[in-house]
Amino acid sequence: MRFVFEQIRVGGDRNFGYLLGDREAGAGVLIDPSYAPELLVERARAQGLAITHVLNTHGHEDHANGNAAAKALTGAVVAGGPGHAGDLDLTLQDGDHIAFGAFTLRVWHVPGHYHDHLAFLVEGQDAGFTGDLLFVGKVGGTATEADGRTEWASLQRLLREWPPQTTLWPGHDYGARPSSTIALERRSNPFLLCADVEAFLRLKQDWAGFKARHGLR
Ligand SMILES: [Zn+2]
Repeated sequence: MRFVFEQIRVGGDRNFGYLLGDREAGAGVLIDPSYAPELLVERARAQGLAITHVLNTHGHEDHANGNAAAKALTGAVVAGGPGHAGDLDLTLQDGDHIAFGAFTLRVWHVPGHYHDHLAFLVEGQDAGFTGDLLFVGKVGGTATEADGRTEWASLQRLLREWPPQTTLWPGHDYGARPSSTIALERRSNPFLLCADVEAFLRLKQDWAGFKARHGLR
């Protein structure tokens, strides 16, 4: 396969970082190297990839804390969403595209968990990266009811606009498996099964109780 893909456990709170690349072009990008920038850069070198971009799904420390080291090791451009608190070389907007070799990653601005939150979809590869917006079996935490409403809208947008067969690669390993698909989450994730935003907000409020009643960890 020409598309290089690695999901890498980087430490922290079961954080995931990702390496994507074009084998033939020898170009690649990192997503959220966070606690293990050296490890991700080592994987890129092993795969023969020069890293052009270090991408953040959002600016929370546990996703952005490896940016400077990854940049120092690769010379890559550090990119994140609008309002990202860190040191960015490039601010990405909804609808932007990042090319690595023959592949294109499309940027989605999906606020809620955090105002700068982005999701990435590699076009033609059915690979979607949802950071802390959407996990396997749950969704990202939100600080206020308004953020919860914003998150609901972002989730509905992904469900509408991403192909159902898209593999979901989250920012943390919080679920029963380290990846899923949009279709599988749509029929099994309790937050995506909510009929409307009010039910979604009620489930967020009652998540501890819901887990206890359903035997979830
Ligand atoms: Zn976060």
